[in-house]
Amino acid sequence: MVDAVIAGAGIAGVATAWRLAERLGTTSAVLVDPGPPLSVTSNRPEANYRDWWPQRAMAELADRSLSLVSGLLEDGAAIPMDRRGYLYVTRDPDRARALGETVAARVRDRFPGSGADVVDAATLRRQWPHLAPELLAGLRVRRAGGIDTVALGRAMLERAAARGVTVERGAVVGVESRAGRVVAVEVATSTGTRRLATDAFVNAAGPFAVPLLAMVGADLPMETVLRQKVVIADTRGIVPRGAPFTVSLDRQRLAWSDSERAELERSADGRLVLDELPGGIHVKPDDTAAASALKLGWAWDQRASVPIPDPACPPTFPRMVVRGAATWIPGLAAYEGAPILAHEGGFYARVPDGQPVIGRLGLEGSYVVGAMAGFGAMMAAGAGDLAAAWVTGDVPTEAMRAFSPARLRDEAYLADIRSGRIATGEL
Ligand SMILES: Cc1cc2nc3c(=O)[nH]c(=O)nc-3n(C[C@H](O)[C@H](O)[C@H](O)COP(=O)(O)OP(=O)(O)OC[C@H]3O[C@@H](n4cnc5c(N)ncnc54)[C@H](O)[C@@H]3O)c2cc1C
Repeated sequence: MVDAVIAGAGIAGVATAWRLAERLGTTSAVLVDPGPPLSVTSNRPEANYRDWWPQRAMAELADRSLSLVSGLLEDGAAIPMDRRGYLYVTRDPDRARALGETVAARVRDRFPGSGADVVDAATLRRQWPHLAPELLAGLRVRRAGGIDTVALGRAMLERAAARGVTVERGAVVGVESRAGRVVAVEVATSTGTRRLATDAFVNAAGPFAVPLLAMVGADLPMETVLRQKVVIADTRGIVPRGAPFTVSLDRQRLAWSDSERAELERSADGRLVLDELPGGIHVKPDDTAAASALKLGWAWDQRASVPIPDPACPPTFPRMVVRGAATWIPGLAAYEGAPILAHEGGFYARVPDGQPVIGRLGLEGSYVVGAMAGFGAMMAAGAGDLAAAWVTGDVPTEAMRAFSPARLRDEAYLADIRSGRIATGEL
């Protein structure tokens, strides 16, 4: 009998194992994954983090996670991080005015974290002359920057292993229950199916969580969407190397030539780009794939799709993201059609309120830690801590209840999300 079986050795599963091991002192918990740890969505040498969130619970979770990361660093873990900040920019006068109100409201409501500063147009132009002069304002998040997700994951895994956690190569294919509670987990390995007796099963399968939910009779409104970034060489030195991770808040309407339009209309993913697209194009200097490179991303396609381990880059995406980014970093126009040095693709698992799902499921002894969308690296340590608290049977705290799957069965809550009364974005 093992203390717990955790399906998925991505960053969420690894963090859960670590925090469980810390609570128990030593543990026989097993992390199960068909691939090596941290090899699917969590395989990001240069992810971003911030403690600035519109929901108090998310701000607290980010704050708690970053404190746990600080603890790992103090303990000697080698986790490359920088603090170049996030910079959100806009050319929309209404949005520019609203930035100041947003900051004031968070100060008034005493949100946790280090806060953010509004940057006016003149300061933007002086500090970041590569940005378009039409930009009217920015918001600079103070405690934010880049973090190596894989290094963070390894640091947590090492500490979990030192307290007894083991990793088993295989796929969870079934959960056995008796009298309404978990009694064992079945794992398909290269040598056959193993039965691990346990009374705690944690679903940490990231974008692949849905079939494992069904194994314990659970159903959550979870969907997966393709997200991707491309890396190009900044051969002309357009973006200063010290520039923050910069995100445009403005919707985009891109100009396409007739021949491009015809090509985009032919490709399924390209049809979307003919209309106005959501904001969120982001650009940052990133040397992990090559020296003097830039990483660009855009969550332009909000359609749900079935997750696969290593998605290819849609042919229209690189040109589209460079053209979109050139509307607010004009020098980037020179890179349209430039070779792609690296492509990062993967799937966000998300639920309607855009927050993680951490807690107990219906079948006694079954838990989930998932729907980590685009914040899995920065929130993992805190999420794992909450998941471990559920497994060890703590009395639910406000933080534990905030992310419990139970909220997604509350029709009034879901209606507030649909109507926009509850914030689901990141600003
Ligand atoms: C392009 C992109 C950029 C991103 N950038 C950032 C960023 O800058 N900052 C940030 O914080 N986050 C970022 N994210 C989000 C972050 O990467 C994810 O939220 C996080 O990696 C999810 O971790 P996970 O452990 O939930 O899932 P995963 O890492 O996918 O782990 C799930 C694991 O479950 C395993 N599994 C599947 N089926 C089974 C089964 N039957 N049995 C056992 N195991 C199974 C899989 O093999 C996998 O290893 C980004 C994501 C993408 C796609």
